Amino acid sequence: MANIIVAGGGNGGLVAAIKLAQAGFKVSLFESKSKDNLGMAQTDAFDADTFSYADILPSPDFKRGANIITFFPLDKSVAPLTIPALDELSFIVDRRDLANYMFSLAEEAGVDIHYETAVKSPIILGNRVAGISTDKGDFYGDMIIDACGVNSPLRSNLPDSFLVKREIKNYDVIYSYRAYFDKNKSVPEPETNYNLYLRNNGNEGFSWLITEEDRTDALICRFYRPDDSEILESLRNIQEENPQMGMQLTDGGGRAIIPICQPLGILVCDGYAAVGDSAFMTIPLKGSGITFSFKAGTILAETIINDDNGFYDTEALWAYQSRFFKEIGSGACRLAILKNILPYLTATEVSDIFRLGLVTTEEISAVMTDKAAAILNKNGLTSLKNKIKIASDNNTIKDILSSLLVWLGKFTVIEASYPSKYDRKAAIKWVEKYNDFFDSIRKID
Ligand SMILES: Cc1cc2nc3c(=O)[nH]c(=O)nc-3n(C[C@H](O)[C@H](O)[C@H](O)COP(=O)(O)OP(=O)(O)OC[C@H]3O[C@@H](n4cnc5c(N)ncnc54)[C@H](O)[C@@H]3O)c2cc1C
Repeated sequence: MANIIVAGGGNGGLVAAIKLAQAGFKVSLFESKSKDNLGMAQTDAFDADTFSYADILPSPDFKRGANIITFFPLDKSVAPLTIPALDELSFIVDRRDLANYMFSLAEEAGVDIHYETAVKSPIILGNRVAGISTDKGDFYGDMIIDACGVNSPLRSNLPDSFLVKREIKNYDVIYSYRAYFDKNKSVPEPETNYNLYLRNNGNEGFSWLITEEDRTDALICRFYRPDDSEILESLRNIQEENPQMGMQLTDGGGRAIIPICQPLGILVCDGYAAVGDSAFMTIPLKGSGITFSFKAGTILAETIINDDNGFYDTEALWAYQSRFFKEIGSGACRLAILKNILPYLTATEVSDIFRLGLVTTEEISAVMTDKAAAILNKNGLTSLKNKIKIASDNNTIKDILSSLLVWLGKFTVIEASYPSKYDRKAAIKWVEKYNDFFDSIRKID
């Protein structure tokens, strides 16, 4: 059986590793962190069908719950908007527990895990990715799965001619700071416990405060890298609005980058596939990527198992890419287009959108999950036209919504040119059109 290398213990890579090892492949995984320091100091939510899609049993210790989010526009005279809970309860899990669980399943399945080994670059032989260079030496494999996350040194060191690499540009990622503070129990419980502040402090981004039973969870996100003083100011600002937030840091306090853009146009080349954040597979409006990673890892493992020739070349791996775009990428791209209007809006305009009733709770609920199709289908476009009429007195909002309508139409045409079978010329044409389109709608500062 073939030798599979999984670079980085991202969620999609772990899912693929488990499934391939169970199918009899020899799988080696290289993770930079030590075994006792896996995951992140934060609790995240992900979709109810995440484990069932991958046909992996969740840990019985994983909790499920409903996050009921309330949006607060900057203008305090505009009423906040509370999003109803989804029907299916999400998983809400500490990321250290999730990582420890997935790594333990990988070990049980027979994956050879190299902890504390940093992947540095791909090893290229001819037109193929043939291995990885790490700080512990070089390793060769028949197929390399890139699960190193958003800053993957594999993706970013691939030759341009492999068509996979894409530079991270403005508004493709958000810069986050996440920290847990104690809870001031001397003040009454807040009316809403998941408060999301759009354009908090008037800056490009958002912040939230989630009030849990015994602690509070603060997140600051910006389209640019905020300095420490801006983070402190935002924390103070959130604390003023939420006196239940204590001042004692109890967990987390780290910075990270979250992709919020369209996925890579091409995910594969000979001997290589990107999965999860290394391929920008998140829900673009909120940067949640655990569910997409699990699903993509499952599709990738099935594609590798079904490659009877065992070449793991672009032609064979194209099945992974096509199924990903059909099931997930197409909706994610539409959400990326929708997200793209945010940088064009000022804080006042965001408040005006709420004031004019241009977004409904159902619409926000749909875009906060990956149910883009629900709002960006034919009916959605009719409702977008109605919104343009409602906004007729506000030229900026009207123009932005009109652009959105045009962008969605253009993307539908580009999507129709996706080559369902791999052909290098067609693939080059596709990725050029795809990248040029998203560049054309990006706000230039
Ligand atoms: C503040 C914050 C909040 C989030 N909230 C949510 C949420 O609520 N729901 C949700 O679904 N998603 C959320 N996400 C996004 C989520 O973390 C990712 O989308 C998801 O984990 C998929 O990414 P990944 O598993 O591919 O990569 P990652 O989670 O980045 O994992 C990459 C792995 O590779 C390892 N690695 C990295 N570089 C190397 C290297 N050079 N060599 C070896 N190993 C390496 C890392 O240590 C890590 O183990 C959040 C992210 C952040 C930062």
